[in-house]
Amino acid sequence: MSQSEALFQQAQKTIPGGVNSPVRAFRGVGGTPRFIARAEGAYLFDVDGQRYIDYIGSWGPMIAGHAHPEVVEAVREAALLGLSYGAPTAQEVQMAETINDIMPSMEMLRMVSSGTEATMSAIRLARGFTGRNVIVKFEGGYHGHGDSLLVKAGSGLLTFGQPSSPGVPAELAQYTLTLNFNDSAQVREVFAARGYEIACIIVEPVCGNMNCIPPVPGFLASLREVCDEYGAVLIFDEVMTGFRVARGGAQALYGIKPDLTTLGKIIGGGMPVGAFGGRREIMSKLSPLGAVYQAGTLSGNPIAMAAGLKMMEIISREGFYPRLNANTTKLVQGIQAAADEARLPFTTTQVGGMFGLFFTTEPQVSSYQQATACDIPTFNRFFHGLLERGVYLAPSAFEAGFMSTAHSEEDINTTIAAAREVFALLR
Ligand code: PMP
Repeated sequence: MSQSEALFQQAQKTIPGGVNSPVRAFRGVGGTPRFIARAEGAYLFDVDGQRYIDYIGSWGPMIAGHAHPEVVEAVREAALLGLSYGAPTAQEVQMAETINDIMPSMEMLRMVSSGTEATMSAIRLARGFTGRNVIVKFEGGYHGHGDSLLVKAGSGLLTFGQPSSPGVPAELAQYTLTLNFNDSAQVREVFAARGYEIACIIVEPVCGNMNCIPPVPGFLASLREVCDEYGAVLIFDEVMTGFRVARGGAQALYGIKPDLTTLGKIIGGGMPVGAFGGRREIMSKLSPLGAVYQAGTLSGNPIAMAAGLKMMEIISREGFYPRLNANTTKLVQGIQAAADEARLPFTTTQVGGMFGLFFTTEPQVSSYQQATACDIPTFNRFFHGLLERGVYLAPSAFEAGFMSTAHSEEDINTTIAAAREVFALLR
């Protein structure tokens, strides 16, 4: 029995499912999750001493590679000064100014400790600001596990949302409308019927939680338009896309200015961090300036700020994004070519340092229905084939892939060669 298998058995006695976040359990793809001992650059090393070229990057934060020496040094220096104060620091001001500089739509912002906290807080603020209760989200999007967000669509477009998890009151779920990503006509129809009840739209501007699905031209602009027309708050959840699809996030890439933005992952450099912010008028409603309550003992934690600030510095260096994007393009094109050689129905997407791999006959995947209609059993075999060859993809057909600047040409070529071998077995 491998060390990972032994640890997985042991873990299940004291941790539900043996993991502290469900997707890590390999439920979708089957098999035993690898227990990780350490990480460096583009690589993860498991407790059995196996090395993997990693395309998860801790689900996004490791955009400059694992254990980046400068980030580690910044954390080490900060730790010597104390781990948490529960009082304001100069580093928090610097972080707010840095984020504001990179994403000017975030005129004011507040740090939190996870993406979930950021989206929960942004939604409360949007509701408090507008005095409305209904929120709009999109099927296949994920915004963390806040109660209002664990909701699936009702039977009809305008019918009440249903809790997607026990423990979420139906009375709360009824305020969440779940629409189709990339369907502007549907969004307009819903706003025409209920627009003045809607507090906000929350959207992943590039959806990274149903594989990787970019917005079709005009979709994000249509969200901006309806929010303006009906006085709703447009929230871009850039927890995944922020600093990844472009330095300024999806809002810079597509030129659409949201009212509020939620961030996570990269701004913490791997430490537990999130942030939300946006228009001054809206952010001014937040406690202690305004009446909408939100707080956090560890918010703006000095170690997290040190790691995040160093990360912001690294990504702002010349050549960072060209390298990230070129790496991703090389990988995605190489995998596509290998699939074509094997004559497998397969397509890919890429936005900056994010990518999607789809086993499908569709030339382009732009909807939740298309993403879920892909050949999942084949993806699962592909995943395990790569894992056996030392390549670590997200253990689910519905997650995006994440590139880093630490991946070398050789890593990418090794990955493509492994994909070619596995595709040949899948024919
Ligand atoms: N929003 C998006 C777009 C995400 O992808 C995630 C998590 N992957 C979250 C919010 C929640 O973030 P966290 O897991 O840090 O709570």
